[in-house]
Amino acid sequence: MNEERLPAAYTARIREMLGQEADAFLESYNARRTQGLRFNTLKSASASGQDAAEHAISSFGLTPVPWCPSGYYYEEPARPGRHAFHAAGLYYIQEPSAMSAAELLAPLPGESVLDLAAAPGGKTTHIAALMKGQGLLVSNEIHPERAKILAENVERLGIPHAIVTCAAPGDLSRRFPAVFDRIMLDAPCSGEGMFRKDPAAIDEWSPGHVEMCAARQWDILQDAYLMLKPGGSLAYSTCTFNRTENEETILRFLDSYPDMELIAERRLWPHLEQGEGHFVALLRKAVSEEAVQSRSKRGGGRGKNASRPLSAVRDAYQQFMSWAAAELPGFTGQGVPLLFGESLYLLPEAFSASLHTGLLEGLKVPRAGLHVAHLKKNRIEPAHALAMALTPEQAAHSYDLAADSLDIQAWLRGESLAVPPGLHGWTLVTVQGLPVSWGKASAGQLKNHLPKGLRIQKALADEQ
Ligand code: SAM
Repeated sequence: MNEERLPAAYTARIREMLGQEADAFLESYNARRTQGLRFNTLKSASASGQDAAEHAISSFGLTPVPWCPSGYYYEEPARPGRHAFHAAGLYYIQEPSAMSAAELLAPLPGESVLDLAAAPGGKTTHIAALMKGQGLLVSNEIHPERAKILAENVERLGIPHAIVTCAAPGDLSRRFPAVFDRIMLDAPCSGEGMFRKDPAAIDEWSPGHVEMCAARQWDILQDAYLMLKPGGSLAYSTCTFNRTENEETILRFLDSYPDMELIAERRLWPHLEQGEGHFVALLRKAVSEEAVQSRSKRGGGRGKNASRPLSAVRDAYQQFMSWAAAELPGFTGQGVPLLFGESLYLLPEAFSASLHTGLLEGLKVPRAGLHVAHLKKNRIEPAHALAMALTPEQAAHSYDLAADSLDIQAWLRGESLAVPPGLHGWTLVTVQGLPVSWGKASAGQLKNHLPKGLRIQKALADEQ
C-alpha cells in the first residue's frame, strides 16, 4: 500500500512514536496481510479431533504462531474457512496477533469469566477452549446483529458453558458487581492494526476518532472494574497502535483505581512479528477488605427464574431427559434448565452456584447456556447447538462423512442423503468424527436438519 493512502496526521504520529523504526513499520504496509486459524481444543484434543487437525495442518500447509500453542498461519490459496472442518468447529479463523490476548489472560477451567466486547467471538472461543468448557463464560456484545453472529460462533465451536448476552457494559455492571475471576475487554478502538486487512478502516481514522475511542474505552473500563472480583485479572486489548488508546488509557486507569496493579503489557508490531499488531495489558485487582465487604452486600437471594414458570420448566426438562435417555445415552444433562418460548436451555451450573437466574431478567440473552431442544407440542426436536457440543459416543445413532467427500459438500448445502435402511431416527452427522448437525433417518433417507442460515450455497470444491 502506498504511504500516501495513509492520513498524514497518522504517519506523523507514527514517526513521532517510533522514530527510526517508523520506516520499517510503514514499509510493513507493503507486505501481504497475515492470516491465521486457531484450533478449537474443545474439539481438537479428542482422538478424532487430533486426526482432523493433522489433516488440516498438512492440507492447508499450516505453520505455528509462536505466542499461541493452538494458533497457525495459513496462506492463500488455502481457504480453511470454506472447509467442512470449519463448519464442524475444529478451528476459528483469527488474525494471529489477536491470539495473544486470551493467552495472556490465561483463564482456567471452573472460573467465572466475562468477555465484555465479544463479537464476533475470536477471544471468547479462545477463552472457552482454555477453560476446557468448564465454569462460566459470559460473552457480551452490545450490538444485536453482532451478538447473533457471536452466538452462532459459540454454537459452531460446541461451547457448552457460555451465556451470550447483548447489553451495554453499564447494564451488566449493575447486575454483576465483583462477580468475575477474569475479564477480557477487547475494546472497540480506532483499528490502526486493521489498515492492511481492511483499507476502509483508514477512511474512518482521524485524531478526533482516536479521542472518541479513548473516551469510550475509559467508560467501558470502569464497568469492567466494577465486575472484577477482588484478586481477579483483567486483560485490556486493542488492535490499534497509538498510545492514547493503549498505555495512556492504562495509566489513567491505574491512577484512578489504586487497587489495580499492572502485571504485564505486550505489544505485537507488524514490522517485528508476523501479525497485524495488537496491544494487551494484564491487570490484577488487589484483595481488599473493603472490596470483599461491598461484594457481600450484593445480595444473593434467589430471584424469580427469568424463564417460564418453574413447573413448565421442570416438565420440559423431564420430557427432554426422557428423550435423551433413549437418544443420547452418554449425555448427563448437567445445568439449570431454562425455558424461553419453546426453547430449552441448560444454564451452566457455575452460574447458579454464585448468582441467581433473576439477574437475567430484562436482559437480552441470545443464548442462555447450552440450547438443548425445541419443544414441539408433544415431541422433542434436538437443538443444533446440542449436536455441536456432543461427541458421537454420546449419541445412540451417528453417521460419519469423509472430509473431502462429495457427500459432506451435499450435506453442508442442506441436501438429504441416501443411508443404509437400518439407520432410524435422530442421527448425529459427523465429518471425521466431528459433529456438523442433526439428521433424521427414515426408510434409507437422512433428512437434513442443518439450520437453513448455516447452509453453504456453493460447492466447497469450487472454493478450495
Ligand atoms: N473480541 C472480539 C473478537 O475477538 O472477536 C472483537 C471485539 S471488537 C474489537 C470490539 C467490540 O466492541 C465490537 O463488537 C463492538 O460492537 C463492541 N462495542 C462497540 N461499542 C461498544 C460499547 N460502547 N460498549 C461495549 N462494546 C462496544
